[in-house]
Amino acid sequence: MILLKTIWETIEQLLSCIKEGKSIGFVPTMGALHDGHLSLIKQSKAENDYTVCSIFVNPIQFNKKKDLDTYPRMVDQDSKLVEAAGCDLVFSPEPDEIYPEGKVEKLTLDFGMLDKVLEGKFRPGHFEGVAIVVKKLFDIIQPTKAYFGKKDYQQLVIIQSMVNQLQLPVQVIACETIREHDGLAMSSRNLRLTVGERVIAPNIFRILTYIKTNAGKKPVFELRQTGLQKLQEIRGFTPEYLDIVDKQTFMPVNTWDHAERIIACTAVYVGEIRLIDNIELFS
Ligand code: AMP
Repeated sequence: MILLKTIWETIEQLLSCIKEGKSIGFVPTMGALHDGHLSLIKQSKAENDYTVCSIFVNPIQFNKKKDLDTYPRMVDQDSKLVEAAGCDLVFSPEPDEIYPEGKVEKLTLDFGMLDKVLEGKFRPGHFEGVAIVVKKLFDIIQPTKAYFGKKDYQQLVIIQSMVNQLQLPVQVIACETIREHDGLAMSSRNLRLTVGERVIAPNIFRILTYIKTNAGKKPVFELRQTGLQKLQEIRGFTPEYLDIVDKQTFMPVNTWDHAERIIACTAVYVGEIRLIDNIELFS
């Protein structure tokens, strides 16, 4: 496996793949890798001739400086993990390489309400930052397929929308959320939980599962309220939102019609750590 830090080295390395008509699978990450990330790499490895993983903590998608500053960074350990998972190339640039002299080129995209609700509402500018970096990375890597986790479902839909709007020649692949044995969705942020917070954190998935179990049986409004109340009742939890929405538009639903499209999404502060999770209610 090769680890590269510059755009030009990476383009040069990938040129031979492109010339030989090899398919390139791409997994963008921010590092502090866990089995969730590795499942994406393994899927890419199984479906492509060559797999690239990027490790880049993208400053422009953080709306809180403290969150950016404290985001875990461990590229050496990450490289060993991705190599063992079968990755061929890691692209791990410094911020200056992606944003020379701090310059950020904006994209003209229209996500409608998609980037204004849920994560978009509570993290202003987040999805714009995500779209800008993913577009840059796609330009550099030129992947055949790019792999994104359903753990960040709204992000997945934003990326698909960007690909559609810009007619990019890449197939976006949605990958299942990988969880700890107690249901907690794997996340790099879990590393920052205290022992006590780690003990209570699985209540997020437990409450999402309660919603799934009762979906279709109680009115949507009532179930959302009960779910939110259950989150509020956990000492140490500060829920930011819990919404039952259409998984393409992320607009709230009022009925159980079009059940296959309905998802429950939540963001919860566990102590100081903000965790997100979601569950498809009828799949
Ligand atoms: P991140 O490093 O958090 O930006 O995540 C990089 C990619 O890994 C994104 O597509 C995430 O959705 C995906 N991912 C993160 N956690 C998980 C998980 N627990 N299961 C599956 N995919 C995940």
